[in-house]
Amino acid sequence: MTEIKNTSARCECGALELNIQGPPVVQLVCHCSDCQAFTAMPFSDIVFFKPDQCHVHGQSDTMTIKGNSGFDKTHYSCASCQTPIYVTLAVLNGAVAVIASQLSGFTFEPEVHIWTSEKANNVTIPVEAIQSSGLPPKALSDAMVATFWH
Ligand SMILES: [Zn+2]
Ligand SMILES: [Zn+2]
Repeated sequence: MTEIKNTSARCECGALELNIQGPPVVQLVCHCSDCQAFTAMPFSDIVFFKPDQCHVHGQSDTMTIKGNSGFDKTHYSCASCQTPIYVTLAVLNGAVAVIASQLSGFTFEPEVHIWTSEKANNVTIPVEAIQSSGLPPKALSDAMVATFWH
């Protein structure tokens, strides 16, 4: 029997909460400039979940931009405290990319660092980490596409 894992992501004030019933699909560190702008951090620890396993409670402010793929990418922050919580990606059939630091009781174990071509100057990537200058490596990208567009 597969273990169903529950986790949740919350903003600082608690008004916006994302409840997740299901395992993470992919964990990665993103260095792209969009994520830098969204989180106001030099890089973002991100955990991808299936959209049908995510349930949001509370009001969010949203901002939709075109991602590097040319598809819409919508950023969700708490309408009250403005904490960035997650991003949805049209290119991956609405995949929910959650900011790992907002997840409770979750151990972040990134598989890859992506968009290192846009990496902030003062950030050093661990030498043992798998890196990609842009999108995730093909095998991982293919697996993500297969998972979210099943
Ligand atoms: Zn809040
Ligand atoms: Zn990014």
